[in-house]
Amino acid sequence: MDGGAAHIDLAGRSALVTGAGSGIGRACAHVLAGAGALVHVVDRDGDSAKEVAGLLGGQAHVVDLSDAAAVETLPTEVDVLVNNAGLQHVAPLHEFPPEVFTLIQQVMVTAPFLLVRRCLPHMYARGWGRVVNVSSAHGLRASAFKAAYVSAKHGLEGLSKVTAIEGAAHGVTSNCVNPGYVRTPLVENQIEAQSRAHGLDREEVVEKVLLDRSPVKRLVEPAEVAALVLWLCGDHASSLTGASLPLDGGWTAT
Ligand code: NAD
Repeated sequence: MDGGAAHIDLAGRSALVTGAGSGIGRACAHVLAGAGALVHVVDRDGDSAKEVAGLLGGQAHVVDLSDAAAVETLPTEVDVLVNNAGLQHVAPLHEFPPEVFTLIQQVMVTAPFLLVRRCLPHMYARGWGRVVNVSSAHGLRASAFKAAYVSAKHGLEGLSKVTAIEGAAHGVTSNCVNPGYVRTPLVENQIEAQSRAHGLDREEVVEKVLLDRSPVKRLVEPAEVAALVLWLCGDHASSLTGASLPLDGGWTAT
């Protein structure tokens, strides 16, 4: 037995990746297309969605995932669903804007629920499916000032486990991947802002601020997250379900 991981063949499969215009989602779209899947590239940013879809021979869907009616226009014939789109807002709880809290739940919990709900009948009919939820170390741990994000990621963790339990009899697995800080535009901007605010150089911000709790003192690369997402799509991983896989340089071990 060779483990099968090197031979993940998604030819004839379709994949839908949310937030695929940037960062982790973009890297996931690339590896899934590389394995042969037809990739549906979903993002509210039309230019980047079309660019990624053009590069991969996929299909772009310009949709704001906070709009439930728009989510209902997305394809349902999906074998691999990657719930990845997300956003962050940092504020103390007593000042946290309620409308931003609601928006974050809509994009990061309600949209994944609607997509799972829509895609499962096709997966059940084929007796095979993969749901991969891009959670976070913040799906397993909390930090101050991130009430909406931490709440949403913990909600996504629950949705993933229920999907795993219901999908098991139908050949469908559901898992979370839980990155620490990943080198994406989102984090690059935070490094710049922290560097200016604290008068530290970029390396010091990464090591002393962002990675304070991480034994591995480097950012995770989007390609590392995408590799784990692809690995979960192999037939070798059919017993791995309902799990949450940290990719966080050891942060959640501390
Ligand atoms: P990113 O900002 O680079 O990409 C996010 C993408 O989601 C963007 O293309 C954006 O347009 C899209 N998006 C946001 N809101 C949307 C909406 N309402 N409708 C449609 N598309 C929308 O971010 P990223 O760092 O690649 O993050 C991707 C996922 O990974 C998120 O769920 C994030 O919480 C998670 N994550 C990121 C990190 C990190 O350090 N970067 C760490 C752990 C988890």
